[in-house]
Amino acid sequence: MNSIKVCKFGGGSNASPNGVSQIKRIMNDDLSRRVVVISAPGRPSPSNPKVTDMLIAYAKTKEEGTLESIVGRYESSYPGSRIRVETRLRQRIRNSEGLSGKAYFDSIVSMGEELSGLELARTLDFVYVDPQAVLRVSCNSGRTEILSVSEEMTRNRFNQRGRFVLPGFFGYNEEGIIATFSRGGSDLTGSFVAAALDAEVYENFTDVDGVFAANRNIVTDARKINKLTFKEMRDLSYGGFGVFHPEAIGPVSEKMVRVHIRGTSSYPSEGTYVVHDRLSDPTKPIVGVAYGDGFCSFDVEGFGLNENVGVMRRIFQVFEDREISIEFSPSAIDDISVILKESQLGDGDCIDEIIRDIHRTIGNKVTVDFQEHLASLVVAGKGLKGSRGVSADIQSTLAGRGINIQFIQQGARERSIIYGVHRSDGPDAVNAIYDKYLR
Ligand code: ASP
Repeated sequence: MNSIKVCKFGGGSNASPNGVSQIKRIMNDDLSRRVVVISAPGRPSPSNPKVTDMLIAYAKTKEEGTLESIVGRYESSYPGSRIRVETRLRQRIRNSEGLSGKAYFDSIVSMGEELSGLELARTLDFVYVDPQAVLRVSCNSGRTEILSVSEEMTRNRFNQRGRFVLPGFFGYNEEGIIATFSRGGSDLTGSFVAAALDAEVYENFTDVDGVFAANRNIVTDARKINKLTFKEMRDLSYGGFGVFHPEAIGPVSEKMVRVHIRGTSSYPSEGTYVVHDRLSDPTKPIVGVAYGDGFCSFDVEGFGLNENVGVMRRIFQVFEDREISIEFSPSAIDDISVILKESQLGDGDCIDEIIRDIHRTIGNKVTVDFQEHLASLVVAGKGLKGSRGVSADIQSTLAGRGINIQFIQQGARERSIIYGVHRSDGPDAVNAIYDKYLR
């Protein structure tokens, strides 16, 4: 293990001059914090957009007013930055003119992190590192992945003397074109760097004080979790806990680099540690309940479906051909559902075509129904493994509140249980499970 600490500061941490001063204080407090990954400025108040949202709007509309507002946001977080920021932004816009599609879009949107990185490095008097020196990525079907060659590049760059600022959220492909990760992807940059450097800890500073056992917009007094495992964090992030990007668990869990998710403004209070394993209380099998909506399902039913060799593959192929990813696929006798994110269906024009293609590939004797507005609850905890009756108990708790469960999914490893409910029942269902198991 290396005595380096890698820190990542989220957008909220550099959305105001006070936030930037707090970053400075935290970095001055511990000299082993040698690498800082920074996001684009977030919302200074709930009614303001994030700088990334403004850059997305600019890339679509090219409205001059949006550009001016972006420059204003940097000037407010990093006083004196106006001319530098404006010049660099306009230069990038000019240089991106020859690009199109995702390449153009990412070239503009990545400026949020790049400008924060440059300004923060100046403020802290750290060395600015361009992701081109450390993060080589590939981009397939719109998904950006970090290539393994980046590990050595990262080690070579950061094992040199000094303290560094690296902008999060993007890397460069083999042709030198910028590609961004999905939203919130600076967490992934930080996780990758911490893992490559075999860091002592990856400190993920954010605008909440840690990970809470349920979304606090739904359970207002949900308690903070002190420690959870990588797998628990992965399941809860995937299920809708926005505090840590679900893909960011990968690099740190592989190298067993512990993560400390903590509040920038509440520093030095401790937040939540994410570790390889922990001791669990047998009376508390569940560590948290995550909630996410915006799901839909294609439900296929027909006598003899189970005996039909290759039926799953053929149904899945219909989605793969359209580059639509499948979230879950619960099944029972003669009954298979394919659950996806509604956002992948665009304006919904393809729904009829998908149904037609399913019929085309497995025959017309089946019925295919489409259901929208589903929500999923992910109940996670290492204590679920082998514990008797938890699922039955959750089901009767939900039934007791008049909530209909539309699908249930649990893997043989019993890591988590996923319940699908109508989105109008979602918040009630989260409260019911929280009251029963987590209060
Ligand atoms: N700025 C990007 C976003 O708003 C990435 C990040 O903050 O991690 O999604």
